[in-house]
Amino acid sequence: MNNRQLFLRHVAQTSDAPLALEMVKAQGMYMWDAEGKRYLDLIAGISVCNVGHCHPAVVKAIQEQAATYMHLLVYGEFVQSPQVAYATYLTGHLPDSLNSVYFTNSGAEAVEGAMKLAKRHTGRAEVIAFNNSYHGSTQGALSILGDEHWRNAFRPLLPGVQHLQHNSMQAVDAISERTACVIAETVQAEAGVLAPSLEWLQALRKRCTETGTLLILDEIQCGFGRNGSLWAFEQYGLVPDVLLLGKALGGGMPLGAFIADKSVMWSLTNQPVLGHITTFGGHPVSCAAGLAAMKTLMEEDLINSVEAKSKLFLELLRHPRIKAVRARGLMLAVDLGDFPTNKKVIDRCIANGLITDWFLFAPESLRIVPPLIITEDEIRSACRIILDALDAV
Ligand code: PLP
Repeated sequence: MNNRQLFLRHVAQTSDAPLALEMVKAQGMYMWDAEGKRYLDLIAGISVCNVGHCHPAVVKAIQEQAATYMHLLVYGEFVQSPQVAYATYLTGHLPDSLNSVYFTNSGAEAVEGAMKLAKRHTGRAEVIAFNNSYHGSTQGALSILGDEHWRNAFRPLLPGVQHLQHNSMQAVDAISERTACVIAETVQAEAGVLAPSLEWLQALRKRCTETGTLLILDEIQCGFGRNGSLWAFEQYGLVPDVLLLGKALGGGMPLGAFIADKSVMWSLTNQPVLGHITTFGGHPVSCAAGLAAMKTLMEEDLINSVEAKSKLFLELLRHPRIKAVRARGLMLAVDLGDFPTNKKVIDRCIANGLITDWFLFAPESLRIVPPLIITEDEIRSACRIILDALDAV
């Protein structure tokens, strides 16, 4: 049996139609399959590889840390210098009130930890989340996921969760003294790149402050420069009580985090002690990799060119079959009207050496979330492949 057959036989599957391409190498903007065919990566492993695949600084940090120490003890007991260095660097690039970092293994675990933190800190149980939001696949994260189709088969889920319309003032009015937290993606990604209005997010912030509710912003997908500023919330002139990070946080290694003020985070340390624990959260190799990636992002000034690159995509993506393009920096959704058309275009792009995808809650939209290192020439060749595919299907 070849690897593909063994993959289908022994690796648990998430769908009956996986891509099942066997990639053997990835570097910068590209991946290569087992036959030596090269693919331009337009989705960065779903917003993970913001500094490209196998950036030399990230690889070096991983190799050095792996040779120094890997797992020592469960999270939170020993002083582990990669965690300390990364938490210090991260909080140095965040507003003062986001000064305490709890590292997890994944985005969903950051969501779980933050929801527990909100309950414990406020003594309340109610949660407000939004339609078409994606926060992960564990039971707590699934409970707040904004689409009944994906939740229904797994009921009963967490009680006390209200799903409201994103960007609607009705949601602001629903926040009360019983609400532990409001959790929202700053810019909804899987909904097909939906950015809320400035007024709405600011009203949400104001109402949370009035009611003592924690505002949790999920920037697991839209953070780390993807939207044209280091953090998406910067564009809204507000600061969340809790920030959720993941994906690009680990520079290609598994890592998540929820970040809050120390006075809030403190509530997980008592009554009961060990209010949130993890064996591998903040793994030293992941933290070393993430720190190297974030330093690369900042030192190579990659965020500075995001808007110009976004504009170039918007200029080039003109075709009668394109209904609309929604863009927030290098997070773009190309609306092709229906899923069958989108799927045909995606398949053709992949056959022609361009990796793209659709969005979970916007299957009619083609996903463009490339590594931020993408060049103008690469944007031109990616768009050429997409436009050719649109001509052909
Ligand atoms: N939040 C958002 C906005 C995401 O896009 C995702 C993953 O796609 C998650 C949370 C969950 O992260 P993970 O898959 O690492 O658990």
